[in-house]
Amino acid sequence: MLKREEQPRPVEIKSRKELDLMRAAGKIVAEILNDLHGRARAGVSTLELDQRARQILEKYGATSPFLDYPNAQDRGPKFPASICTSINDEIVHGIPRKKRFLQDGDLLKIDVGACYAGYIGDSAWTFAIGGVSDKAKELMRVTEESLKRGIEQTNAGSRLWDLIEAIQKAVESHDMNVIREYQGHGVGREMHEEPSIPNFLDQDFKKRPSNIQFKPGMTLAIEPMVVTGSWETKVLGDQWTVITKDHGLAAHYEHTVLVTDNGPEILTLWN
Ligand code: MG
Ligand code: MG
Repeated sequence: MLKREEQPRPVEIKSRKELDLMRAAGKIVAEILNDLHGRARAGVSTLELDQRARQILEKYGATSPFLDYPNAQDRGPKFPASICTSINDEIVHGIPRKKRFLQDGDLLKIDVGACYAGYIGDSAWTFAIGGVSDKAKELMRVTEESLKRGIEQTNAGSRLWDLIEAIQKAVESHDMNVIREYQGHGVGREMHEEPSIPNFLDQDFKKRPSNIQFKPGMTLAIEPMVVTGSWETKVLGDQWTVITKDHGLAAHYEHTVLVTDNGPEILTLWN
């Protein structure tokens, strides 16, 4: 999740050797999400999930690219944890806390990054804690589906706007909204590389990213953030946690995807 508005740089094409490291990083991310999926239940604190993620990272000699990440304004506190845990109306960048216990009915978003041998994998998933509302289930289904639709467009020769449009359509056809102030991104040696991948196309073309053509070797973090209400956001006093202004529910799904000659390869696939 990257705040909009950055200077464009060229999109990197990773070498085969680099892609092996990207795959290794992606596998670690997948293992962490799989593990946390089994642990995330009512009564567990979000800090326990963070500590478990750190254990797995350490097992592989990997680190979290989120830990100590500088605040967008470069004034506020650096991100203090290894993963992001965002609950209900929190969309992204939630900080794991010792006394934040999961409750039955919560919609938990876990965002996981792993930096392995200098290369980064990035993936997020939404989990229902116990029984959640039908609306929450529908939100999860639509958001996951929109990620799938976006990934399907990640082919060599395809263009960025097609990917974005596929995500936006999959969401808006269900009367839900994509978050507009945060977006996906290229990923590799840095967590946020070119291109920026917003999840909507503005009708007046002023805020559209350049409509680049995908080439084999590009690695992209595609991440629809979807809400049942308005897409407007605000940041809490901790200067990290992003919530919906109207306190509507949010879901977030993300995969790191490699463009190949034979279609998209999901580097963070789990289960
Ligand atoms: Mg990301
Ligand atoms: Mg992420």
